[in-house]
Amino acid sequence: MYIIKSTEKMKAIMGNYFRSLENGEKKVAWCTSVGPAELLRSFGFEVYFPENHGALLGATRTAMDVIPEAVKMGYSGHVCSYTTADIGSYLRNDTPLKKHYGMKGHPKPDLIAFNTNQCREVQDWFYFFAKEFNCPVVGITPPRYLEEVTQKEVDLVVEQFKSMIPICEQVSGQKFDEAKFKETVRLSKEATLLWQKVLKTSTAMNAPISFFDGTIHMGPIVVLRGTQIAKDYYTELLAELEENVKNNEGFLPKARTRIFWEGMPIWGKLRMLSDLFTSNGAAVVASTYCSSWVFDKFDENDPWNSTARAYTEIFINRGEKAKMRMLSDWFKEYRIDGIIYHDSKTCFNNSNAKFGMPQRLKDITGVPALVIEGDLCDLRFFSEGQSITKIETFLEQLEENIVLK
Ligand code: SF4
Repeated sequence: MYIIKSTEKMKAIMGNYFRSLENGEKKVAWCTSVGPAELLRSFGFEVYFPENHGALLGATRTAMDVIPEAVKMGYSGHVCSYTTADIGSYLRNDTPLKKHYGMKGHPKPDLIAFNTNQCREVQDWFYFFAKEFNCPVVGITPPRYLEEVTQKEVDLVVEQFKSMIPICEQVSGQKFDEAKFKETVRLSKEATLLWQKVLKTSTAMNAPISFFDGTIHMGPIVVLRGTQIAKDYYTELLAELEENVKNNEGFLPKARTRIFWEGMPIWGKLRMLSDLFTSNGAAVVASTYCSSWVFDKFDENDPWNSTARAYTEIFINRGEKAKMRMLSDWFKEYRIDGIIYHDSKTCFNNSNAKFGMPQRLKDITGVPALVIEGDLCDLRFFSEGQSITKIETFLEQLEENIVLK
């Protein structure tokens, strides 16, 4: 059976990270997953990412137990289920962080920072906790849905990043230190470029890491970017995967089709979906989701402009033409036979199947598409039987297309 040996190391790293949030050694800043983590780290904060906790609630299938608590508080059950699960989990003081990492509950924030480059929902979500913990909150609100990111937008975001300095200084008790900021950006850049190489190992026909593996191994690039720990981890993981490629060892020997996953993971069904694809001879080799933590524009010699640009240029913050360009490039690079769009019920922002893009992209690229309905955390919006039938039929058709070619 194919296993990625570095997984054990990754689990230990994540455990140490979570426990560090409660040991009192560092002040804690909460941050959105594609927010300015490097700037916060440069002030000595340990950085906590509530979306990562949302994913944990989804993956452990505890989200549905706690979402009703948020609904009782007036949050719609149809808005971001990371938000409702996280708030519900806090209200019930019921979190997998206790069972899995021995924590007392949500780590207490000293500062809360959000960036609406991904969605507006994070603003409501983070304001709830700012009020709850009586904690200072700072928001970055860049221009959205951009086809091109010009210097004008970058300047605007740089200005907003710089406006965080006084509050960061006040809460951390440390003066802004440009050298520390540059060093954090350098470490972040090195880790993110390694993560990019990790993902690209699956351009090999015998791909060594699937989308489903990627959702697990991306932990350190989300929560520990800007640290030596993340850089060391991806150095090790990359070496293992490159060795596997050299030895022609992949997670699915002789895959009959190569698939791209678009949209959010369905956290509570990762294992089921992974088994479904592999048992049908399909390798899910690439995704927009795992690629979202590749910030290849980071440059420690130009830390403000490069971080502002990288965080504004992310896939989710782009217009349709830019998204189609990026997807077309990935299709070629990973030799994709078909794309699955996860149309997530509670995440409008990371669902690209609602306004006809799958058809338009197919017209341009010729790559067949399937849309499945589901959700990141709330499995009440996912019909397993219906999805299995749709996916199996789609994969059969793809194979027939390949034979006919
Ligand atoms: S991008 Fe989607 S899943 Fe992520 S926080 Fe925003 S609404 Fe929730």
